[in-house]
Amino acid sequence: MQIIRYISPILLSATMFFTGCDKGQNKSGWSDEEIALIEQYSNEIMPLQVIDNESDSLFLRKSSLSLTKTEIESPYFTKLISQMLLTVTNPENEGVGIAAPQVGISRKLIAVQRIDKESEPFEFFVNPQIIYKSEEQQNGWEGCLSVPGKRGNVKRHTKIVVEHNNIESFELQHDTIEGFTAIIFQHEIDHLNGILYIDRADTLTIK
Ligand code: ZN
Repeated sequence: MQIIRYISPILLSATMFFTGCDKGQNKSGWSDEEIALIEQYSNEIMPLQVIDNESDSLFLRKSSLSLTKTEIESPYFTKLISQMLLTVTNPENEGVGIAAPQVGISRKLIAVQRIDKESEPFEFFVNPQIIYKSEEQQNGWEGCLSVPGKRGNVKRHTKIVVEHNNIESFELQHDTIEGFTAIIFQHEIDHLNGILYIDRADTLTIK
């Protein structure tokens, strides 16, 4: 299964030293703009895109781009996932999931807290897609780091199958997910398609 790859800051700096020599290229696959944003918040919490800001709001509505094997093998990917993890676990504003567009990177990458596993780890999923949805649906309350101060009641499928590329080998994988974890997946995958939970909520209230 997908486990967050932890690389110490020292190892990360060494990796950057050996690979950071040809700037301006895009051998890594990442755009200069994406690299600049990832590097700007090196080992830090990244600023969240929020709907209260007009340009962020437009950004959140974009469909994100898929990731390639070359891109996930690049040190920028390792940096991005560690910074997304810092962002979603920020004790002052924590979540149970986050999608890359929420930190300004319009790519198909999400982190989900696996409430369905004993230690409830955060796991990252590359190019996730829902390929099966149960007919059965259930209503539940949701909030979003990009929609501050609100929560809404949303109907979601109780069981889904998610297809994604393995975070290390890039091989296609399928996972069957149920319960609250399935809700997190549906919420985060929506972000990759420019959809916010407020689009689906029956009721929206102030938190
Ligand atoms: Zn969200």
